[in-house]
Amino acid sequence: MAACQWGDAEKRLIGILKSIAVPFVRVSALRKVLFLDVLLDEMNSMTQELEQFDVLVIGAGSGGYIASIRAGQLGLRVACVEAAPYADPKGEPRPGGTCLNVGCIPSKALLSSSEEFENIRKHSRAHGIHVEGVTMDVPAMISRKDAIVTKMAQGIEYLFRKNKVNYLKGRATVLGRVGDAFDVAIAQNVRARHLVIATGSLPRQLPGIAIDNVDVCDNAGALAFQAVPNRLAIIGAGIIGLELGSVWRRLGSAVTIIEALPQLLPMCDTEVAREMHKLMSAQGLEFQLGARVSGLERNPDGTQKLTYSDASGTTQSLVCDKLVVAVGRVPTTADLGLGSIGVEISDRGFVEVDQHCRTSVEHVYAIGDVVRGPMLAHKAEDEGVMVMERIAGQAGHVNYDAIPSIIYTSPEVAWVGRTEQELKEAGIDYRAGKFPFSANGRALGNGDTSGFVKVLADAKTDTVLGVHIVSTSASEMIGEAAMAIEFKAAAEDIGRISHAHPTLYEAIREAALATGTGALNL
Ligand code: FAD
Ligand code: NAD
Repeated sequence: MAACQWGDAEKRLIGILKSIAVPFVRVSALRKVLFLDVLLDEMNSMTQELEQFDVLVIGAGSGGYIASIRAGQLGLRVACVEAAPYADPKGEPRPGGTCLNVGCIPSKALLSSSEEFENIRKHSRAHGIHVEGVTMDVPAMISRKDAIVTKMAQGIEYLFRKNKVNYLKGRATVLGRVGDAFDVAIAQNVRARHLVIATGSLPRQLPGIAIDNVDVCDNAGALAFQAVPNRLAIIGAGIIGLELGSVWRRLGSAVTIIEALPQLLPMCDTEVAREMHKLMSAQGLEFQLGARVSGLERNPDGTQKLTYSDASGTTQSLVCDKLVVAVGRVPTTADLGLGSIGVEISDRGFVEVDQHCRTSVEHVYAIGDVVRGPMLAHKAEDEGVMVMERIAGQAGHVNYDAIPSIIYTSPEVAWVGRTEQELKEAGIDYRAGKFPFSANGRALGNGDTSGFVKVLADAKTDTVLGVHIVSTSASEMIGEAAMAIEFKAAAEDIGRISHAHPTLYEAIREAALATGTGALNL
């Protein structure tokens, strides 16, 4: 492990020597006698030495900032560099990456505000509560969201200081290898024994549809509207399409989602995707599935005209006030200088890594959205912890089979492990057990009985292979299922664990029982 080139004590000594030396160096004779020329040359070259680190983490998003904190905990001399200011008032690079600044946290804040609004307006009556004249102050909702983001960004800077992470601001470009280290240009060049590439991803763009983040937006613009658009069109019925479509529909937008595939949420279990299509349509989201977008015209009145062919091939047009493009994300590897050290990049732009996030170059790792696997904040974090533990000589690992996914609509969708279609494709013999929330007492009390739990278990060993939940609290319930898969539990194990009554998560037990001896309450 490389130690720092110059510690604080040495730097202070150089400062003292320089301050003593300056009055003398003007006297050439004395300079020669005292060998000050030699001394000053040496000191200058010493102060120009690159700052050195055990590890340099490029990107302060979910993966990079957590990796840096873990490195600090492990006693590594670590620096983390970030380039993007996001909404920082001073325009300085801000930590937190996509998730904190324009992703998970702001979207969940808006989902929460809009759900409160909808509950008061539409669902409180069923509880006997009558509220008249409810309005939404959109700028106040956006300010609340911004304040949460600012607070959390400050929290990361505090955690960096607490864990001795050197936070560097600027765009990092890898310059090349020098001996057993790597030189990286930021504002000043730095040198590190290990690199962790955590540069994340950016929204995928569609040809002919230029994003301005005012009228034609990606996720960043769609999280910052200052008024409710009357007509909102979204391209892509994936996770962002459904989450942000829900936010603005709840506040009053007429939302149309245009999806290329014949079903929405292609990453989900097909039965879950079908259920969500039914539930989201009932809430008022309009879907055009199997559609192909062909063009966008900007009208003089500020509206947009989107042209697409529908599932039957008929050309259609849709006029909207705002358009959101949410068709997936692409890894950020361009202009990073990875070619200078020979790091392999896939055809689709991802950094190639093994199961421990090692790249093709020794001592260079890559984590998070910039590598294979689901583009999820907790997956990036888990990889960051694993990589730092391995750099420190420990045996960190990630169980990729047990990473949960959640869609924060209402009801929420959550799953971990395999889908039914994946098990069928793999030729794995399985049993499915399902339990609806319409048979769950707590769901009835809460006034929302939509959705179900589905447990998939190996037909021979009873090992839990996948759990899929559609429910208001699916995001909290999925933890039990992730633990079951991590510990290789059998469905019978879940069935025998005491589940408190009345709770929503009793439905997980019932679905587990339904794979074998049968549910008790159905
Ligand atoms: P990022 O968070 O993208 O961070 C990478 C950082 O590296 C960026 O800040 C970038 O500026 C910086 N960088 C890039 N190049 C350089 C360079 N050369 N020099 C210096 N810095 C550089 N995931 C969830 O798990 N749950 C959710 O609820 C969720 N909601 C989301 C909602 C939205 C709208 C979006 C868009 C995403 C959401 N995600 C969610 C996904 C999640 O945001 C990402 O998976 C996560 O941010 C990936 O973390 P990362 O560290 O790999 O990359
Ligand atoms: P996505 O992959 O979830 O969905 C993209 C959708 O766009 C897909 O249904 C796809 O078929 C469709 N599509 C692609 N090209 C199209 C085209 N030309 N015309 C019409 N439809 C097209 O991507 P996203 O919603 O942009 O989100 C990006 C990523 O961010 C997600 O994959 C996820 O990893 C992450 N994210 C996670 C969460 C969460 O965890 N709750 C929330 C938001 C985003």
